[in-house]
Amino acid sequence: MHYVILGASAAGISAARAVRRHDPDGEITMVAADRQVYSRCLLPRIISSERTEAEISFVEKDFFDRLKIDFLPGCRVVRVKPDTREVVLQDGRVLGYDRLLVATGASPTLPPVENLNRARPVFTLRHLEDALAIKEAVGAGTRVAVLGGGLVGLEAAEALLTRGAKVTVIELAPRLLPLQLDATAAAVYEKLFRERGAEIITGQGAYRVELEGDLVRALVLNDGTIVPCHVILVAAGVRPNVDFLEGTGVAMNRGIVVDRHMRTSLPDIYAAGDVCESMEAFTGRVSPTPIWPAAVIQGRVAGMNMAGVEAEAPDIFACQNAMTFFQVPTIACGRPDPPEEGCRVETACWPGGYRKVIRSGNRLHGAILQGDIAGAGVFNALTGQKVDISGLPGSLLTITYAPFFRMKADGSFSYK
Ligand SMILES: Cc1cc2nc3c(=O)[nH]c(=O)nc-3n(C[C@H](O)[C@H](O)[C@H](O)COP(=O)(O)OP(=O)(O)OC[C@H]3O[C@@H](n4cnc5c(N)ncnc54)[C@H](O)[C@@H]3O)c2cc1C
Repeated sequence: MHYVILGASAAGISAARAVRRHDPDGEITMVAADRQVYSRCLLPRIISSERTEAEISFVEKDFFDRLKIDFLPGCRVVRVKPDTREVVLQDGRVLGYDRLLVATGASPTLPPVENLNRARPVFTLRHLEDALAIKEAVGAGTRVAVLGGGLVGLEAAEALLTRGAKVTVIELAPRLLPLQLDATAAAVYEKLFRERGAEIITGQGAYRVELEGDLVRALVLNDGTIVPCHVILVAAGVRPNVDFLEGTGVAMNRGIVVDRHMRTSLPDIYAAGDVCESMEAFTGRVSPTPIWPAAVIQGRVAGMNMAGVEAEAPDIFACQNAMTFFQVPTIACGRPDPPEEGCRVETACWPGGYRKVIRSGNRLHGAILQGDIAGAGVFNALTGQKVDISGLPGSLLTITYAPFFRMKADGSFSYK
């Protein structure tokens, strides 16, 4: 049996481990455009020089040898031919497969801003090469405009500040981290960024890049504000890497469509991670769930099924975020704002801390724990597993595991 795995990141590596565990003798080939295996979550630390290239790997040094995997780094797949069960690499090589996993992740998108496509330097932050190039281009006093005040944009902004850059973050929504935080929690981070010298502009989008030749000179915002800058960093969303599947007829929506076994619509082709879409546990909707743990779980399930061991992927609880900016941690799960009138919202605020819990009917709709994140696991479990909390007495703000939590036989929490 020849397994070919496209992509060697969270999903691909997890799948390879599962395949090898269940098929000690099968032939495994992994193909990755990346030249090494690394955690994307740690890329901001390359920019801030807190980590070296070697220190962002998440596999053992002898991983490929020990698991007898033929690893082809720095190789791009350009075509999949399901009829002949082959993949074609950019250098012309052709690999046959019995089972194929597509775990090629996603790539950043550029918003429709005039001149952005021809301006330079314009960076995104997805690959090790991006982080190294940003580090090279940005030093003390470099003016950087960061387009997007979400998690990736702010992590990049914090790292850029450590390099002495003059950073302006531009966010279209009325506040930073609009998907994760409410106005109060977002304001805490906004203040911290400002105190470190960053300019934060919310409620505005970029309209045009002012150029000198093709060099970036400034960003013009929708309201006419001019943001002088030498460098632009775009962190405004991603799209799945599926170009090489064109013409195969594989079912696609906002990502590759898979079933619970991570099978695509084509025989013996599986998909996992950011490249596919799956059922999100909190919203109950099928959508991309682009977080690291989801890719690991889906990769494992795909690998098991490829090796003939039946496994089903669970719904993914992707509406959960852990973040730390300037040493202030926040856990946010569910939604940051009440969905309708009549929800019970409890908040508590103290120096260095903020907590908010939203109860909608007999469910926890969302929780934000900032500063003091003790008990975050309880809120996460209640929200993600949609636990019926109608029997819980008193305030939810001070909820703890004891005395009424217990684990059910299937591993889920129960409060009775
Ligand atoms: C800066 C940053 C910070 C993040 N922080 C967090 C965090 O704190 N928590 C969290 O949960 N998630 C975080 N994420 C998201 C997380 O990194 C992704 O969800 C995760 O990497 C998805 O893994 P994946 O294996 O599906 O795809 P990817 O990690 O995107 O890997 C795709 C793989 O496919 C390869 N590939 C792509 N195209 C081709 C091709 N044509 N041919 C061959 N190989 C190809 C790539 O080289 C790579 O090996 C962060 C992402 C970024 C960019």
